[in-house]
Amino acid sequence: MCRHLAWLGQPRTLAALVLDPPSSLLVQSHAPRRQRYGTVNADGWGVGFWADGRPEPARWRSAQPLWGSASFASVAPAISARCVLAAVRSATVGMPIEEAAAAPFTDGRWLLSHNGRVDRAVLPPARDAESVVDSALLAALVFSRGMAALGETVREVGAADPAARLNLLAADGTRLLATTWGDTLSVLTTDEGTALASEPWDDDPRWADVPDRTLVEVTLDGLTQTSLDASEPA
Ligand code: GLN
Repeated sequence: MCRHLAWLGQPRTLAALVLDPPSSLLVQSHAPRRQRYGTVNADGWGVGFWADGRPEPARWRSAQPLWGSASFASVAPAISARCVLAAVRSATVGMPIEEAAAAPFTDGRWLLSHNGRVDRAVLPPARDAESVVDSALLAALVFSRGMAALGETVREVGAADPAARLNLLAADGTRLLATTWGDTLSVLTTDEGTALASEPWDDDPRWADVPDRTLVEVTLDGLTQTSLDASEPA
């Protein structure tokens, strides 16, 4: 995925998070401001959220550009959630363009998105991967190792493929986890909740950049950042 975001906090409509802001994910799908790789994110999109009372997330994904979905635009103002994860995709060369290759990927309570690329040869085969796209194989590896080992898994994959870019974003309805490894990520903390996004969706001065090679964890109690650099204590 080339641009992703997540929200944890007071209920927000999918439209308020994905469509309405001046530099929303919808705008980022054709005019991202900070994207380092690729120029448009037209190879699909996905939105996942937790409906009240349901532990497992609901997902809506597509292999089409987000700007073409009149159905999503119609439904998005009517769905609110406390936890949302969404992404728009610019397919890496050679990767399939199909709904199953669009993030978020899922396992039980978790959703996961990958902004970046990784050589599939360094990843173990995964029969339960949702697609043959590198991101789905990576998601299968992350899920199989467990989310508590997310930072360790990213470090290992990054060591096996030094050209890998591994910005991951995950959520389970009660917390968000993210890594920066080669691409941008920003955080917005407000009284109502916390957003993580590949790039700010507006010019609110409270957006802060997350340094590269960082593990971020967001719960309702706050946010922690830990360096993923091997030279610094984890
Ligand atoms: N490599 C992933 C894909 O092909 C993600 C691409 C991206 O982040 N632009 O979908």
